[in-house]
Amino acid sequence: MSSQNEPSFRESVDLMFNRAVSIMDLPPGLEEKIRVCNATYTVRFGVRLRGKIHTFTGYRSVHSEHMEPVKGGIRYAMGVNQDEVEALAALMTYKCALVEAPFGGSKGGLCIDPREYEEHELELITRRFAYELAKRDLIHPSQNVPAPDMGTGEREMAWIADQYARMNTTDINSRACVTGKPLNAGGIAGRVEATGRGVQYALREFFRHPEDIAKAGLSGTLDGKRVIVQGLGNVGYHAAKFLSEEDGALITGIIERDGALHREEGLDVEAVRNWIVKHGGISGYPDATHTADGAALLEQDCDILIPAALEGVINMSNAARIKAPLIIEAANGPVTAGADEVLRDKGTVIIPDMYANAGGVTVSYFEWVKNLSHIRFGRMQRRQEEARHQLVVDQMESLSEALGKTWSPSPDFKQRYLRGADELELVRSGLDDTMRIAYQSMREVWHDRDDVMDLRTAAYLVSIEKVAASYRAKGL
Ligand code: GLU
Repeated sequence: MSSQNEPSFRESVDLMFNRAVSIMDLPPGLEEKIRVCNATYTVRFGVRLRGKIHTFTGYRSVHSEHMEPVKGGIRYAMGVNQDEVEALAALMTYKCALVEAPFGGSKGGLCIDPREYEEHELELITRRFAYELAKRDLIHPSQNVPAPDMGTGEREMAWIADQYARMNTTDINSRACVTGKPLNAGGIAGRVEATGRGVQYALREFFRHPEDIAKAGLSGTLDGKRVIVQGLGNVGYHAAKFLSEEDGALITGIIERDGALHREEGLDVEAVRNWIVKHGGISGYPDATHTADGAALLEQDCDILIPAALEGVINMSNAARIKAPLIIEAANGPVTAGADEVLRDKGTVIIPDMYANAGGVTVSYFEWVKNLSHIRFGRMQRRQEEARHQLVVDQMESLSEALGKTWSPSPDFKQRYLRGADELELVRSGLDDTMRIAYQSMREVWHDRDDVMDLRTAAYLVSIEKVAASYRAKGL
């Protein structure tokens, strides 16, 4: 958490926004229009549980409707408040613009500790919250499309989708009212892992540019890089897993609620995750050094630091002591505006949240398109691949006949032609392309403009320019 004398999360996002617009040439009115949050809805509703009525407070904030639907997750956590959902909704606007997902920005949250409730109680609470939002079009396939965030996942999205469908029985597109659903309820392959996968693709892209690697004072590839991950939730777990299993990175530190684990030779991410699932925390995990004060490990020597949990964990109270030369913000807003300045002065390279964790909403976009098209993702491609395969088989057969020979395809011959048609493959390659293109658009601004010192400002410049262009095109 940030220290007392720091701006709130919302103010922090505004400060970073202001920093970027100060070097842009936007009409002042438009600048203000883009910065402000259009509306935030607060709802209090009661649910009878265990013989007693419990009152819950929830929010859905809409930051910008320059494109519709607006998009963004729903968070379940005790700390949820208006300031936080507004900051997160603003980040959604910039994130979607940067990766060209055609959405405005929104975010929701419910003040609840989901661990305190049974599954059927969570279902009642979620359905009631979804009802409150849907009846005000704050859940709607063409107006506002939620998704998972901290404390929610596929299960909650399935309940929301079902609740919306019950309220809108004639809406043929009802499945597109929410993304992050399970595969058997209109979801898409690869959505659960998408944000972590996006972090991996972002780092891979960063490490393709020697000049950028040098800016962080690093060299070489991801192989052997020492990585500390804060938060082994959905995003941190997948990022750490893929980086260690596929890119040779060493996960030297894992920070969780109940402390931190450290092992210079690299931790086994899968084993740590299984331990947490079984024991409810990292405490007692063998094969690693334990630190009770988890936050202290943020300051440990490493090559890459991945904050993947809450906002504000790197703040004025610890920024000066952060040793990692490269930080990738898997979480939203993990670095406060003040800490951002301290780190920039130190030369730390930060790959900013609106880019680094955009994998989630990118794959949400694929899911939404899949739902609206009412056809399995990749089905058209599969037909084309099959036709192409048949053509080659026919040619090979007639050629061998003409030569008086026999031809029979090798066992994997057909598979080679159908490689691109699998949904998961399509999702991954689409995500990879998106992450590469977005990185290059930020990087160009970072390198070409003398007044842009960091990737975050570059990211804001690119995305604000896109939002502004869309307002200019359609009018306010
Ligand atoms: N909650 C995720 C985020 O912060 C995903 C949002 C979405 O898929 O709409 O980006």
